[in-house]
Amino acid sequence: VQDARDSHTGIALFSTLTDQRHRRNFTLLQDFPRALEADDQLYLVFQPRMDVTSGEVRAAEALLRWKHPTLGNISPAEFIPLVEASTFARELTDWVIDQSLKVMGQWRRQGHALQLSINLSAANLEEPDFLERFLAALDRHHAKPGDIELELTESAMMKEADRALDLLERLSEAGAKLAIDDFGTGYSSLSYMQKLPADVVKIDRSFIADLVNGNRERVLVRSMIDLSHSLGYRVVAEGVETLEMSDMLEAMGCDEIQGFWLSRPLSGDMLIDWIRFKASSLRQMRA
Ligand code: C2E
Ligand code: MG
Ligand code: MG
Ligand code: MG
Repeated sequence: VQDARDSHTGIALFSTLTDQRHRRNFTLLQDFPRALEADDQLYLVFQPRMDVTSGEVRAAEALLRWKHPTLGNISPAEFIPLVEASTFARELTDWVIDQSLKVMGQWRRQGHALQLSINLSAANLEEPDFLERFLAALDRHHAKPGDIELELTESAMMKEADRALDLLERLSEAGAKLAIDDFGTGYSSLSYMQKLPADVVKIDRSFIADLVNGNRERVLVRSMIDLSHSLGYRVVAEGVETLEMSDMLEAMGCDEIQGFWLSRPLSGDMLIDWIRFKASSLRQMRA
């Protein structure tokens, strides 16, 4: 891109590319409301989380997917930031909460009581009725606040620090579980962290990927784990891709791991199959 911008043709190429990107973003945003109404475009996949000491899988994260009718599968990394900056952030989160509770109900009826983590948007923190809507959704599905864990990225919390604190306190008082997502990427202060009523810290996968690089990286992750523990949080490592990473994290006292090494995100039915067969063999392997 740098070279391209130096020549006149390069400028033309560069602006065509940004033009195409804008047009695609525009299309995605324009089509999203219809995706919310359709029943064959948006769906959730679920990635399990394993307790390192017991080998038990009691929690999973719900991750949104969009199969666009003409553009095909769109990565959440592409469409979620667009939607989050629009007025549809509210509808997106409501959809995810409702679907998650529906799937949890199905699992419960099959004898699997799993806790689900749901990702919130920073914009949700500005909705004065978020708590009421959340409690109403739980009610509709006969679920308890503790059945769900709400994930907020560290940067989302910092962006709306005071408002975040207020809403998170009210959610926590109502019994909801809270997690700080992508920890280590958002520059939160120790004094703010200490005030947060969160239960879980999820260390961002960039730090986990760095674990194999050397001693300094390992010291950093170990400090993050120790700091989180001393503030009373459980620690989940995201993006655990290898046995080596998993072993290192276990030795450092990390509580839970999530990542491709354990499992990729799966459909609801596949997750239950996976838990039935794979999790029991994992337990045997570790026994
Ligand atoms: P996140 O909440 O930090 O979710 C973890 C992401 O890391 C997921 O990407 C997951 O598929 C991916 N991942 C898990 N294990 C590994 C691994 O071992 N290696 C690698 N390289 N990646 C791994 P995904 O599903 O593409 O989602 C990306 C982001 O989009 C999420 O990051 C979250 O910020 C956002 N997102 C996804 N679903 C939702 C949703 O329902 N609502 C909101 N507001 N945001 C969502
Ligand atoms: Mg998350
Ligand atoms: Mg994360
Ligand atoms: Mg992330």
